[in-house]
Amino acid sequence: MNQSIFPINFPHSKKLSKYKRLNVSVLDHSVLDKKSRPLNYLRISVLDQCNFRCPHCMPDEIFHKNYIFMKNENLLSFNEIARIVRIFSKLGVQKIRLTGGEPLLRKNIQELIKVLTCIRTPSGKPLDIGLTTNGSLLAQKAFILKKAGLRNITVSLDALDPKIFSKMIGKQKITPQTILNGIEIAKKAGLMPIKINMVVRHSINKTEILSMVKKFRHTGNILRFIEYMDVGNTNNWDLNEVIPTQEIINFIEKKYPLIALNDSNMGRVAKRWKYKDGGGEIGFISSITDAFCSGCTRARLSPDGKLFTCLFSSKGYDLRSDLRNQNLSDEDLANIWSKIWKLRQDNYSEKRNVIRNFSNPDQKIEMSYIGG
Ligand code: SF4
Repeated sequence: MNQSIFPINFPHSKKLSKYKRLNVSVLDHSVLDKKSRPLNYLRISVLDQCNFRCPHCMPDEIFHKNYIFMKNENLLSFNEIARIVRIFSKLGVQKIRLTGGEPLLRKNIQELIKVLTCIRTPSGKPLDIGLTTNGSLLAQKAFILKKAGLRNITVSLDALDPKIFSKMIGKQKITPQTILNGIEIAKKAGLMPIKINMVVRHSINKTEILSMVKKFRHTGNILRFIEYMDVGNTNNWDLNEVIPTQEIINFIEKKYPLIALNDSNMGRVAKRWKYKDGGGEIGFISSITDAFCSGCTRARLSPDGKLFTCLFSSKGYDLRSDLRNQNLSDEDLANIWSKIWKLRQDNYSEKRNVIRNFSNPDQKIEMSYIGG
C-alpha cells in the first residue's frame, strides 16, 4: 500500500477482491460500509438556493420569497471544500459532483473546480469532477467551466412544451429554449456527453416523454428518465404520480426499439439502454421500482459542511466543526470521518414501503439542501 496514505487500518482485502472481480473501481484504501459498499463518490451541494421552484424538490409554497436561505458566511469556503475532498480522496473517493440548489448561482464556482482538479487520489489519478445544473445559466458559464477543468455535466430538463415546463419548474419566465441553448453551448465547449435528466410525473409531463426522446436521439446526449421520488418532506409525494420505468420503456419501445446495455459498474444509478437503430444511449433511474441501494457508494455534503450517507437521511454529521478544530490534523480527520462511513447501513429505497407504511419516519433532509 502506498506509504503516503495515513496508517488507517483496512482489514478488508478479501471484500475488495469481490469488487475488483465486478470491475468496480475501488482503490486499495477504500473504506467499506456495513454492507461492504466502498465510498467512492462525494456529491457536494455548494449552496441551498435555486432560481427554480420545482414542486418535486423546492415547492414555492414552502420556499417562498421570504424563505431564509443560508447566509454566505455559513457556507463552507472553497478551501474548506477542497480540504474535505482531499481527505475523502484518501478514503476512496474518486468522483465528485457539484450540486445545490443551483450550483451555478454560487459565485466563482469555476475557482472551486480549478482547485479540485489539482487533487489526486493516492494512486495519483485525478478526480472525476462533474456538475448537475438546471441549465438556466449554462449558456453563460459552459466555456468557463470547461476551462476550469470540469469533466462532465448533467442538465435537468423536464419538458419541451413551455407551459408544461413552467409547471415542472414552478416558474414562468424561464423557457425550455434557454436550457436547450445552454446544452448546445456546453456541447460546443466540449462537455460531452451531456446527460439530460427528466423527472416524470403522471399528472404533469408524461405527455412529453416522446418529444424528449425525439429531441435527444442522434445527438450524443444521454436522456435519462427519473422516477418521481419521495425526497424530503415538502413535495407532497404521491405513489400515483410515479410512472414506473418499465411502463416508460414499453411506451418508448412501441416507436423506438431499445436494447439493454449490460453494465456492472457499481455505484451507477442509471440503468443504461440504447436505441436499436443507433439513435444513441438512454437511461432510467428507478429508485421506486428498482432500488439500487446495494450498489450505493455515495455520500453527500451540505453547503454548511454536514455529511449525509443517504439521500433520504434525516441526520447529518457535522464535518465543519471538526474541520475548524485546530487540534485535528488531516490524518485525525480521516480517521474520524472514515468511521462515519464504516457505520453506514442505509438502504431507504429498499425498505421504503415498510418505512412509509409502518413506522413514523423522522423528517427527511430536503433534497435542495444536499443535492439530489
Ligand atoms: S436510498 Fe440512500 S442508500 Fe439507497 S441508493 Fe439512494 S442514497 Fe443510496
